Amino acid sequence: MGARPKVVVLGGGFGGLEATFYLRYKLGDRVDLTLVSDRDYFLFKPNTIYIPFGEDPESFKVPLDRAVKRKNIEFIQAQVRGVEPDPRKVHLSTGETNYDYLVVATGADLRPAEIPGLREHAVTVWTPEEMLRLREAMKKLVEEAKAGMRRRLLFLIPPNNRCSGPLYEMCLMSDTWLRRQGVRDLIDITWTTYEASFIQAFGPRLDTVVTNEFEERGIRGFKGFVVTSVEPGVVKYQNGETREYDLLASFPPYIAKETYAPLPSDDRGFIHVDPDSRRVKGQASVFAVGDAADFPIKQAFLALLQGDAAGEHIAAEIMGKAPELKFEPMSMCVMEEFNRATFAQVPLKYTDDPLKPVAVATEHPENYKVGVSPMWRLGKKLLGVYAPWRFGHGEPFHAGFAWDAMDMGLKVMSRLMAE
Ligand SMILES: Cc1cc2nc3c(=O)[nH]c(=O)nc-3n(C[C@H](O)[C@H](O)[C@H](O)COP(=O)(O)OP(=O)(O)OC[C@H]3O[C@@H](n4cnc5c(N)ncnc54)[C@H](O)[C@@H]3O)c2cc1C
Repeated sequence: MGARPKVVVLGGGFGGLEATFYLRYKLGDRVDLTLVSDRDYFLFKPNTIYIPFGEDPESFKVPLDRAVKRKNIEFIQAQVRGVEPDPRKVHLSTGETNYDYLVVATGADLRPAEIPGLREHAVTVWTPEEMLRLREAMKKLVEEAKAGMRRRLLFLIPPNNRCSGPLYEMCLMSDTWLRRQGVRDLIDITWTTYEASFIQAFGPRLDTVVTNEFEERGIRGFKGFVVTSVEPGVVKYQNGETREYDLLASFPPYIAKETYAPLPSDDRGFIHVDPDSRRVKGQASVFAVGDAADFPIKQAFLALLQGDAAGEHIAAEIMGKAPELKFEPMSMCVMEEFNRATFAQVPLKYTDDPLKPVAVATEHPENYKVGVSPMWRLGKKLLGVYAPWRFGHGEPFHAGFAWDAMDMGLKVMSRLMAE
């Protein structure tokens, strides 16, 4: 290690930026920081759900140049090609760079081809481009309904999707949006998921919320429907059932965006880490955070917590101190529905069941909070302003006075509007 240790972070998403900015926040100029990303902006993915309903994709991109200049962070715009932990080297499309500590945060990707016909016949949700395709498909559906044709909109969550929440949001948003377009009574909405309960990862209370929402909105919802194939106009399921569609919207199975041969990973390329520190198993100087790592649920809020844990463990080691925090999986999200929103705070724990690898931690029931209210739309808007603002200035999400104020606001809202 040189006079100043060098930390290289791969990936400019939630996990990578949080780790980078947390390290600067904690260590000041006692560390050299290099951020590598294939794009020069941060994409605030959670709000891309608004694109199909008219929002401009550009409004969810936060340029990184100001943040990295402000915080004296070397920024390399390049494609990561591989890592070599022995000489502590990263191979990039632009050359190579060395590190003392490495944080891998290159996220996830989708593999629709895992389900026969899904890629060909479904509109998938993931990138802004896919969201624009869904916008066009929804527009066509509305035009057809306005011309008096009855239409079927089908939503589908297949096994191995690791973040079903956004598609639930888009289903509920579609219902409100189609009502506002005056065509809801001509469009049947059906929801099918492999999950045993709606938004399974978030436990029984979210199942109840979604069941009630579906009932009130006239959406037919089916759980335990494992898709086997998608054909033009029809989806087939393992239980022998079929569902017909005019527009099929799906959130496909997850895989790691990049795989790194020397790092231990599961069969989908997610990197095995120590749960508390996010240190890669068997590697002293390499950490993996966010969607790229092996936590079974992939969420921005969880990626932030993992970025903090990795940053804290690296900072503590550099300062010769004990780390002050570890990764404690507490999920938090606000689900948009246009006419209201659902807030959920869900403490999670690992299980030994490979089919349901995490469950709600019931040790502290007061931490499991759910609330449905039009006011929660304000919480969603606040998060949509706060996160891009922090990252745009090179500050971590979870630190300093700004976070204390935001945290206080969320606590007050959840005391008043969630139980
Ligand atoms: C439509 C949608 C809605 C969502 N809504 C929510 C929500 O409401 N709440 C929530 O908590 N989560 C939500 N999520 C999930 C959340 O967006 C992800 O869990 C989160 O983005 C993961 O952060 P990450 O840093 O691990 O990965 P990413 O945000 O995907 O970042 C990965 C970064 O790595 C870069 N990269 C990848 N490969 C390379 C390479 N080879 N070389 C260089 N750079 C590379 C990418 O450009 C990117 O900057 C949503 C996801 C989607 C798709």
